[in-house]
Amino acid sequence: MSLSPVEQLPLELLQDIFLQSGPNLALPAASHHIAAKLSNDYCYHATCTEYLTQNLDSRVEQSRAQTRIFSYKWMTWEYFQAFVNKTYASCGCLCGKTQDEGCFDPIWPPDFQDATNMVFSRSHLPALSFIKCRLPVKLLHGPWERSKIHFLRFLLWTTSMTVDWGNHDARKLALEGKKQAILDRNLEVVELFNHNRRLGKAPGLDMVRFTVIQGGCDRSIVYDTMSTARTWGLRGDGWRDLKLDQWCKQKIAEGDPKGKWLKLKLEELRTTHGPVGIAENGGETEPRAIFGYMHPKSGDYDNVEGDKLVITPHKWNQLCAEGGL
Ligand SMILES: [Zn+2]
Repeated sequence: MSLSPVEQLPLELLQDIFLQSGPNLALPAASHHIAAKLSNDYCYHATCTEYLTQNLDSRVEQSRAQTRIFSYKWMTWEYFQAFVNKTYASCGCLCGKTQDEGCFDPIWPPDFQDATNMVFSRSHLPALSFIKCRLPVKLLHGPWERSKIHFLRFLLWTTSMTVDWGNHDARKLALEGKKQAILDRNLEVVELFNHNRRLGKAPGLDMVRFTVIQGGCDRSIVYDTMSTARTWGLRGDGWRDLKLDQWCKQKIAEGDPKGKWLKLKLEELRTTHGPVGIAENGGETEPRAIFGYMHPKSGDYDNVEGDKLVITPHKWNQLCAEGGL
């Protein structure tokens, strides 16, 4: 098929039209030939600066453009880091302000390895926090290589991006991605899914069962999943489960210490005292049961076959509690 007149324009002119038009992302979307011509750092940077660093008139259109930008092949972790460095190095903080402009706690250089080490607050937000669009599906599934984990964690920590729950594929991939991380025994990724409601619903008994039975009961993963399930409402009798009990029984019979450990954790969670407490409820008082919780140290044992219990502080929950991002 022959090229249309606009496709035949020299790069300089095409680039000018693209930049003057917004940049309007419909232009590269209209033709592979045009997209190929506009594939250069200059155009990428102009596009990101336009849509990712300032508030535009139409939030809906801006959000749509942001979603598109993050789904592009060129939007790699490497490119995004370069963009962030180039954009915010001059002010010396991810909040996008110099100290003269009101930054009181400079965060620089960005911690790209583990974004959760950067402490933001409601009065000192990253400039990227206004980015409100869909997380690209490329970051929601395995294989869980380092760059993908760092990229996903950074976006969750500094922006308001969420999974597109209306998109069947995105929903399916996010769930599969979480299960893959459990099977891979990748605690970092499991924690991301467990502690971020933007990546899916809180784990319930079915997910706990999956971490134990299919996932081989990696204790750090099981503990984190159980602890999150409890935080989000699974309490007392909700923890009764024949399959988990059978699993523990079988492992104890085989001499596997995981069996005894899990049995104890389940017993701790199933404990219910009361109703003994009195809770205030809109002026009235009502009896309230006190539900058990897991003791981190009880029943713990040494590292057996690489299954050492690691309990990491829940930084994500702290941020939620503070009403942060
Ligand atoms: Zn700052």
